[in-house]
Amino acid sequence: MTAPAALRALRGRLLWFVDDPWAVGAAAHRFIEDGLLLIENGLVRAAGEAKSLLPTLPATAEIVDHRPHLIMPGFIDAHIHMPQTQVVASYGAQLMDWLNRYTFVEEQKLGEQGHAEKLSAFFLDELVANGTTTAAVYCSVHPQSADAFFTESQRRNTRMIAGKVMMDRNAPDALRDTAESGYRDSKALIARWHGKGRQLYAITPRFAITSTPEQLAAAGRLAAEHPGCHVQTHIDENRAEIAFARELYPEAADYADIYRRFGLLGPRSLMGHCIHMTHNEWQAFAETGAVAVFCPTSNFFLGSGLFDWAHARQSGVRVAVATDIGGGTSYSMLRTMAEAYKVLQLQGQSLSAYAALHAITLGNAKALGLDHLIGSFEPGREADVVVLDTGATRAMAHRLETVRDLAEELFVLVTLGDDRNVLATYVMGARVVLPR
Ligand SMILES: [Zn+2]
Repeated sequence: MTAPAALRALRGRLLWFVDDPWAVGAAAHRFIEDGLLLIENGLVRAAGEAKSLLPTLPATAEIVDHRPHLIMPGFIDAHIHMPQTQVVASYGAQLMDWLNRYTFVEEQKLGEQGHAEKLSAFFLDELVANGTTTAAVYCSVHPQSADAFFTESQRRNTRMIAGKVMMDRNAPDALRDTAESGYRDSKALIARWHGKGRQLYAITPRFAITSTPEQLAAAGRLAAEHPGCHVQTHIDENRAEIAFARELYPEAADYADIYRRFGLLGPRSLMGHCIHMTHNEWQAFAETGAVAVFCPTSNFFLGSGLFDWAHARQSGVRVAVATDIGGGTSYSMLRTMAEAYKVLQLQGQSLSAYAALHAITLGNAKALGLDHLIGSFEPGREADVVVLDTGATRAMAHRLETVRDLAEELFVLVTLGDDRNVLATYVMGARVVLPR
């Protein structure tokens, strides 16, 4: 006889989404004031009322009492750069200048022995400290940077999507691969890591400016050969970038058409920024199912512009949200959504707390095509969980004295929250020790 399966129950205020608040309003979320999240072998077995689930538990079940705190699915970040943890907060430049002055300098260090390991460990610590349990991650051009990242993620059992950057022009010599080596190294990394445990691979041409047509063709070949892999890149972030990209690819009708010609626009394509999109580009996204990734703190910090979420929605384009560290300025998905709210306010649009919290959980899971695995508390999902204290700071506790309902409390959390609100993070049902 085998021993009974390990059963753990988290008790607290459960909140998760089953649909999009934009589409179905209050029917999109589930909230249970005194709830129990039942986890068996790392997977969600049930989420429901504590009073009805508690009597069903065997005596051996471990119950962790997180009352009165909020228990949500772990946050998901759809675009972030592991090599840029020491680029964050670099002064005074817009995109192209920022890349050359700061980012390309730091990324060269990933070629040094041990540096990618050091950054990967810091990076994954920082993500879980912010309640983020899945991210779509750019490594550096060095294949060993992706090996180091996946090794560390595998050790922690986190579900991560990552890839080695492909770039073979308009970058320092030390940061350039070739169309051929970029293809070969990416292919070897896919064989080593894609689908190994919880690790997933993203084919990662940095953007059209740093790849020759030969390299984008090679990336498209990889995408066709590995349809289960994501593709991640940047598009329409900055006016100077767009002009340069158009100059390099004069035959393309627009920026999106550059990627489309090479087979890089599809339902698993995560396209960072999408700020200065034309009507035809939104159409191309809608037709191919490509995902527009909104990175508000980065767009503010680099002065890139305002993402038009309403336009994306009207065009039928899927949207994900992301930090974009190190162009972005916070690892926190809460802080990211606070800035998203302001970006939309500047355009006469709005974002409820429910829509914001949906975006960083089920919304991003759907955009990544992973909602059958993560992003909610439906039975069978991987039990990645964040526990949040909505009154963690003096100012927040003080403000909460006057809130009248859950929607107001959650709006305070989204607007003022960050890593200080994260009490605990669980990865596949196991509690992670948070670095402080
Ligand atoms: Zn980026």
